[in-house]
Amino acid sequence: MALSRSKPPRILIVSDGQLGTEAAALLTGLPYELEFAPSREICLAAVVQRPQLVLLDFALESTDPLALCLEIASLATDLPILAISPSGDDITVERAFGAGADDVILPPLRRIMLRQRVGRLIKEVDLASRLREQDRLNHQLFDQNNVLRLVIEPDSGAILDANPAACHFYGYTRDSFRQKRLNDLDAQPTRQMMQRAFRATAARETYFVFTHRLASGEMREIEMYCAPIEYMARRATQVVLHDITQRKQIELRLRESEERYLKILELSNDAVFTLSPDTTITFLSQGFSTLAGAQAEEWLGRSFVPLIYFDDLPQALSMFDKVLHGEVPPPFELRFNSTEGFSYGEVIINPQMDNREVIGIWGAVRDVTKRREAEQSEREQRALAEALRDTAAALNGTLNLDDLLGRILVQVERVVPSDTANVMLIENGFARVVRSRGYAERGLEDDVLELRFDIEATPNMKYMVESGLPFVEPDVDQYEGWVVTGGTSWIRSHVAAPILISGQVIGFLNLDSAMVHAFSDIDADRLMAFADQAATAIRNAELFQAISRQTEELERRVAERTAQLEHERAQLRTILDSMNEGVIYDERFEVRYINRALTELVGYTMREWKGYLEMLRSESTSDGEMRRTLDSLYDTIADGAYWSADLRLRRKDGTEFDASVTCSPVQNAEGVVIGAVTVIRDVSQEKALQAQKQRFVAYASHELRTPITNLKTRLYLMRRQPDHLSDHLEILEEVTDRMKRLVEDMLDVSRFERGVISLQPVILDVQALAQSVATVQTPEAERKGLTLRLDLPPEPTMIYGDPERIVQVITNLVVNAINYTPEGGEVMLAIRPATLRDRFVTIDVKDTGIGIAPEHLQNIFQPFYRVDKRVEGTGLGLSITQQIVELHGGKISVDSEPGVGSTFHVHLPTQSPEEMEPISPMGPANVLQPS
Ligand code: ADP
Repeated sequence: MALSRSKPPRILIVSDGQLGTEAAALLTGLPYELEFAPSREICLAAVVQRPQLVLLDFALESTDPLALCLEIASLATDLPILAISPSGDDITVERAFGAGADDVILPPLRRIMLRQRVGRLIKEVDLASRLREQDRLNHQLFDQNNVLRLVIEPDSGAILDANPAACHFYGYTRDSFRQKRLNDLDAQPTRQMMQRAFRATAARETYFVFTHRLASGEMREIEMYCAPIEYMARRATQVVLHDITQRKQIELRLRESEERYLKILELSNDAVFTLSPDTTITFLSQGFSTLAGAQAEEWLGRSFVPLIYFDDLPQALSMFDKVLHGEVPPPFELRFNSTEGFSYGEVIINPQMDNREVIGIWGAVRDVTKRREAEQSEREQRALAEALRDTAAALNGTLNLDDLLGRILVQVERVVPSDTANVMLIENGFARVVRSRGYAERGLEDDVLELRFDIEATPNMKYMVESGLPFVEPDVDQYEGWVVTGGTSWIRSHVAAPILISGQVIGFLNLDSAMVHAFSDIDADRLMAFADQAATAIRNAELFQAISRQTEELERRVAERTAQLEHERAQLRTILDSMNEGVIYDERFEVRYINRALTELVGYTMREWKGYLEMLRSESTSDGEMRRTLDSLYDTIADGAYWSADLRLRRKDGTEFDASVTCSPVQNAEGVVIGAVTVIRDVSQEKALQAQKQRFVAYASHELRTPITNLKTRLYLMRRQPDHLSDHLEILEEVTDRMKRLVEDMLDVSRFERGVISLQPVILDVQALAQSVATVQTPEAERKGLTLRLDLPPEPTMIYGDPERIVQVITNLVVNAINYTPEGGEVMLAIRPATLRDRFVTIDVKDTGIGIAPEHLQNIFQPFYRVDKRVEGTGLGLSITQQIVELHGGKISVDSEPGVGSTFHVHLPTQSPEEMEPISPMGPANVLQPS
C-alpha cells in the first residue's frame, strides 16, 4: 500500500457516451490517473489491474450496465464503484446499489459534488487497505521464525499462543505451549520473580532478563520485552523474547579483554589518557609516570593542561578542540613537562563517542624523547659537518686570509651560536684580534681592535698555549682568572680553541655570550675543529704569500731577461738588416727569418720565400746537381760543421749572380743542431774585379815590356855607337817619359780600383778649367793641323769638384780627340750649363775624327782597351776619366760614328757644398768604393 501514496490513484471510467466524457472533464486537474473503458471487455481487463475507483456510466449502450456492475463487484470485492445514473428515479438508484455500486450520482453532474464523492470513496478504500496491511504485518511478525513471540494471559501468566519461532527455539509444539505458564519456562522459578513480572506489566516495566530451560534441558539467557495487546477480543500481554546467551558470553569476554587491555596499557611504555570535554583527566595510564612523572592517582580529576609544555599549549588546545568537534586529527608532536625540562611525545587523539555524541577525548602518547634527542644530535652533527665542509670548500676556493677567517667565523655561528666571535693571533707574547664578528651590532667595533692580552697574565690563554686544548667557562664570574677589560665586561660565558700550527699555538678562536651557560664542553670540542681550519687557512695564506713573493721575483727576472733578449734580438736584427750579405735563418728546414739584404739580393720577400735554396737554382745547374749540393750542406750541418761553397744563383727576376754561400749550424744548450744560419754574398763584382785585376796585370806587364825592350835596345846601341849618343839619349828620354806616363796612369787606375784616391773638392768654375785646358792643348792641335774650338756659356758654370781631377778629365778627352782626328779636322770643347730639370753641367768634347765602331763602344772605358793597337796609347785614359767622373757623382757617355767623329759627354752634378755630403773631405764617400 505504500505504492498508493507515491502514485496518483487510478480511476477507471467505464462509459461509451456523453456522461463519461463530462465526468472526465470535471476531474481534470486533480491528482488522479484517468483510464477509459468503452466496452465490457476492456473494463474487465482493466479491473484486474486494480484501479482505486470505478466510475460506471449507467447509460451504457454497448452492454447492460447493471450486469457489468455485478461482474465488477464480484471480481474485485473491495473496489468502490461510483455509478452515474442517467435518471434520478428511485428504481434505477435502488438497482444500482443492488448491483454493488457503493454510491450513485445523479445528473446534472456538478464539479464539487463529483470531486467530493470521488475523494471520499478513494480515502475509504485507502484506509481499509491500510488496516488490512497492518493486520497482515502483525500476523507476519508474530509468525516470523527469527523473533520469538508468546501471548500470555497477564494475570495468570498462562501461555495463550506461541509463534513458530518460539516453538522451534524452545522445542515445544504450539499446543503443548498452550498448556504451560510463563514461569514453567524459568530455570529458577521463584515467586518473587513472577510477582515482579506481573507487577511490571501493570507498572509498564517492560524489560526483564531470565534464564530459561529449553525442552532439551539446555539453559539460555533470555531477554523479554512485554507489551499489552488485544488477543481474541480480550486483554493480553505479548512477550517478545531474545536469546542473549551469546551476547552475554561476548560481553563477558569483552570485559575480560578490556581488563587485559588495561593491564597491557599499564605495562606498555605508551601513555594513554581520556579527558572530559573540559580537559579534566578521566583516565591516565602508567606510561605518564615515565613520560611526565605524573601518577594517575594524583592526576585523576585534575586538568590535563599543566602536563603540557607551555610553548606547545596553543597547538594542543586547538587539537583538542578539533576532536571535540568530531574530527580525528593526524598524529602530532607535543612536549610534556618533565623533571628534566620536557619530553617529546607523539600524540594520537580521538573523540570518545556515545550514541553519536562526543563525550570526551581519548588519546595515546608515545615517548619519542630519545628519538628526538638522537635526531637533534644528528642534526647538530650534520650542521657541524656541513659548516666544516663549507669552510673547507672556502679554503680551497680562496687564499685571501682575511676573507677565510671571516668565513670561518660565519660557519662557526651555524654550529656554536654566540654573541660575538673573533680570531686572535699571538705576536711577541700578546694576543690581538685580527678578525671578528658581532661586535658592530653591540657597538663594540672600536673596542675589539683595542683588545690586547698579555698571554702570561691571562690564565685561560696561558692554559690553551701550554695545553693546546680548548677552554670553556660557562660562567665567567665563577672563574678567578677572567680578565675584564673595557670591551669585554658584558661577557657572561666564554669558549675558545687554540689555533695550532706545527704544534705551536699561534692564536685563538674565541666565542662569547652575554648569557651564562651558553657553551658546553661539546661546543669547545666543535670549536677546536674550526680552529684547525683557521690554522690551515693561515698556513695556506703564508705559503701563498711565500709563493707569491717567489713568483714576483721570478716574473721580475723573466721580465729583465726578456727585455735583455729583446734588446739583443733587436740588435741582432739591426745587424742582420744592415748587413750587405743575405742571411737566412732556418729551424728544422723551416725558414724563420731572412734579412732585408737577402730580399734585395734575390728579390724574394719573407712571404714569398719557399723551401730553402732550391728556389734560387740557376738555369745552368741541374736539379740533381742542386740536390747533391744541398745534401752535402745538410750532412755537414747535421754534423755540427761549417759548410761553404760558391754557387751560381738565380734571382726572382731571372738574372743570375755568383754567390758565396756559407752555412753554420745553430745548436741548443745541449749541443743539438736545431737550425742553421746561411749567409749569401753576391761575389759577381768581386769576380769581375778579380778578372779585371788579372787582365790589368797581364796588360801592365805587356805594356811595360815594350818600353823596357826599347830601353835595352837603346842602351845596347849606345854602347855600340857612342858617337850617336845624343840621338840615343833623346830617344831614351822619350821612352822614359812615356814609361813614366804609363806608370803614372797605371798607378792611377790601381789606386782608383783600390779606392784610395781622395778628392779635394772645391766650388769651381768649369769654364775656367776648360779654358786653361784649351790653352795648353791648342799648340798640339795646331801642330797636328787641327782646329780646337771652345763653346762656352757667357756666365760662369759652377760645380763642386776637385779642379785637378776635372782638368785631367777634360785633358784626356781633348788629347784623345786630337789623337784620333786626322789633319784638317776639328775638335770642339763645349760646356752647357745645368737645366732646372736635370741639374747637371755637361762638358762635350766633339771631334771629326776616325770614330769608333759600335762593337768597341762598350769596351773603350775598360783599362788597357784600345781599338787599334798600332796607334800609340796606354788604353788607360778613358778608364781613369770614367772613374773620376763617377767619383764626382757624374756620368760619361759617348756617341760615335766611324769616319765621321765622336762626341764624349760628361755630366757633372751642380750640388752646393752642403748637398755634396757624399764627397765631403772626411766622409766615407770620398773614398772610391768598388761599385
Ligand atoms: P789611349 O791611350 O789608347 O787613347 P784611351 O783609354 O784614352 O787610351 O782610349 C782607348 C781607345 O779608345 C783608344 O785606343 C782609341 O782606340 C779609342 N778612342 C778614344 N778616343 C777616341 C776618339 N776621340 N776617336 C776615336 N777613337 C777614340
